[in-house]
Order: sequence, then structure tokens, then C-alpha cells
Amino acid sequence: MSADTRPSRNWTRRTLAAQALGPQALGRVDEATRAVVPPVHVATTFIRDPDNQYRSGNIYGRPHNETVRQAEAVIAALEGAAAALVLGSGMSAATAVFLALSPGDHVVGPKVMYWSLRNWLVTEAARWGLDVTLVDMSDLAALRAAVRPGATRLVWVETPANPLWTLTDIAAAAEIVHATGAKLAVDSTCATPVLTRPLEHGADIVMHAATKYLNGHSDVVAGALATARPDALWERIVRNRVTLGQIVGPLEAFLLIRGMRTLPLRVQAASASAKELAERLARHPSVAEVLYPGLPSHPGHDVARRQMAGGFGGMLSIRVQGGEAAAIATAARVELWKRATSLGGVESLIEHRASIEGAGSPCPPDLLRLSTGIEDPDDLFADLDRALRKT
Ligand code: PLP
Repeated sequence: MSADTRPSRNWTRRTLAAQALGPQALGRVDEATRAVVPPVHVATTFIRDPDNQYRSGNIYGRPHNETVRQAEAVIAALEGAAAALVLGSGMSAATAVFLALSPGDHVVGPKVMYWSLRNWLVTEAARWGLDVTLVDMSDLAALRAAVRPGATRLVWVETPANPLWTLTDIAAAAEIVHATGAKLAVDSTCATPVLTRPLEHGADIVMHAATKYLNGHSDVVAGALATARPDALWERIVRNRVTLGQIVGPLEAFLLIRGMRTLPLRVQAASASAKELAERLARHPSVAEVLYPGLPSHPGHDVARRQMAGGFGGMLSIRVQGGEAAAIATAARVELWKRATSLGGVESLIEHRASIEGAGSPCPPDLLRLSTGIEDPDDLFADLDRALRKT
């Protein structure tokens, strides 16, 4: 890295994202070609120096890949983190944190959260020896009652949480968690670093299903972790990633970097549209309830106003008058919205969520989850309105 590529000031997140800048990704103009886009490094092995050293810092593809490092540097810069890791999926990122604990450790998670992780926590993680307690994470008194000083090692929060968009006050949770000696990890997939930076609110680790907003184009499966400090838990996660091979390929890392360049623009557009849709759908005769943190009626609205800067995110859910059958029929009638799982892409998605969540899900059967993309919000509303009225 040449000295003239160092920033002369603290750039905003929007600038960091657009230029794909991070502490180690700074000024990634390829010296040989002067290309403004860095090359993709695909090599799985590297030449050893004649004196038996590896001065490049690269030995083998599982631990070492420059394109992956660049993606990590951008995520660390966006989250204001000491370090970041990119892994093979959101689930591999989340489980990497739990697998860095020890059998017998107590962990606390939310009742409302990404269903697959909750399912893993109460089945495999419990079998592996973690003592798992699930609580209503919007209720700080419930969290305070659940943590066990000296025994609880990790508290997991998702905010806003799938699919009810429940809010957790990260700063207040961090105070409770740290008083017990535990760590606080936040799944910030739906808030994104554009709207909330959990480490600034006192979290120790932030996690992303990078498959969603960070990539933003529904063409990469990846996960990310970022840490406030490289402590013992983090070092264990880093070691496990290499030895267990929880890695992402360089082509996915490249697509992730490319997606992140427009992250702030996409998230701002999706948030503005989601808010408009939430307000219009709240007045719709076929909608029983709209769940969106940006609505004053949402129980997490006050926390969201404090914790989310510049918008309330692109995710909302609606409960359809007429119950489950009416919800499924509505999803069947849309044309513009895509009937698919996942979220955070440029295209808007609609999903009857209870059909995909397993036993123990808090998702009501009449709920449709909406991931707002970047299309015109008038078109998105017209499509939903037509489908709802026909139902
Ligand atoms: N966390 C949240 C909030 C998610 O929505 C998802 C996926 O939908 C995940 C984690 C898991 O991510 P992945 O599908 O990349 O494993």
C-alpha cells in the first residue's frame, strides 16, 4: 500500500462503501494495470521464498485469500470494527460464534429470530453441550432474569428480528450482559451498518447474513462477523474458520465487494419505500396489521428511533384479513413481487413465512413477509393492493 492511498480524513460509510475502502483495502488500484477494480485472487497455493520463508503472508488458499481479505476490510470499516471475517453463509457465521464456546456454557437467545438458527440452537447446539435459554429479547427484564453471572458466556440478539421485526435495545442489553461477564453478539442482517452499527452501541460481535443486504443482488451466499476487539473468543473463531474450513470462495468475495459498493444507496431506497408501503398498507381494508419498526404503532418504534439512523429498514410484515388462506392467496396473485424466501436484494420478495418456519415458530399463519427492493414504491403498492383486493 503506498502512502498516498491513505485517507486524509474519516470518510463517511457511503464513501467507504462506494470505493470499497477498508484499513487493508485502501487504495486498491492495481499497480501493474492501474485498474480501479482489484483483481480476483483465485490461487489456492503460493510460492515459498528460496530461504524457506513465506514473506507474502500467503501460504495456502483455505487460510489466505486476498480477495476475501478485501471484503473483510470493507465490512470492518463499515461496522467500525477491529477486524472482520467473511464465511461461507450467514448460518456458518452465526454458528461459528457458538462453536467457539465450550460445552456446558450457558447462552441466551431471542424467541423471535431467524428460524433456522433458533432451530439449530435448540437441537444441535443443545446436543453439543450448550445450555440454551430463549427469551423475549424486547423485554430487558426478561433478559436480566435469564442471564446467570459467571455461567452465561454469550447473549445473541437479532434486531430488527425476523419476521415480527421485534427491536432489542442494544446499549441496554450490553449493560446487562457485560455486568454478568458475558459477550453480546448481534445479528444485524436487516439493520445493515447503514442504519445501525451495533459495536457503537456496546455489542462485542456483529453478524451478517451477507447473502442479504451486504451483497444485495441475490447471487451470493455468504456470512460475516465483525468484532469490537480481537479477544480470546474472536481468536478462537478465527482459528476455527481456518481449521473447519468455514470459508467463502474468492469469486463470491468479489461479488460481495461489488455489491457493498452500493449498499448505502440500496438500503436508503428500500427503507424509504418500506416506510411508505407500511403507512399505506396500515390503511388498507384487507390488512389486519402492519409490522414495521418505522410505524409509531410498532412496540419497538421508540428503540428503533434511537438505534436506527436514517431509516427503519426495508423489511416489513403484514397480517392479512381472512387468515392463512387469504395470505397464501395474496402471495399467489402478485405479479411484481417475487414469491420467494430470502431478503435484502434489489428485487422485492413476498413470502408466506409460516410455511417455511418450523415447529415453535412465533410467526402467525396470516403473516406475509415483505422484503422491499428498489423498484418504484407506487408500482409495489399497486401490485399488492390488486392482489389483496382480489383475495
Ligand atoms: N440471519 C438472518 C436474519 C437471516 O435472514 C438469515 C437468512 O435468511 C440468516 C441469518 C442465515 O443466512 P444464510 O442463509 O446466508 O445462511
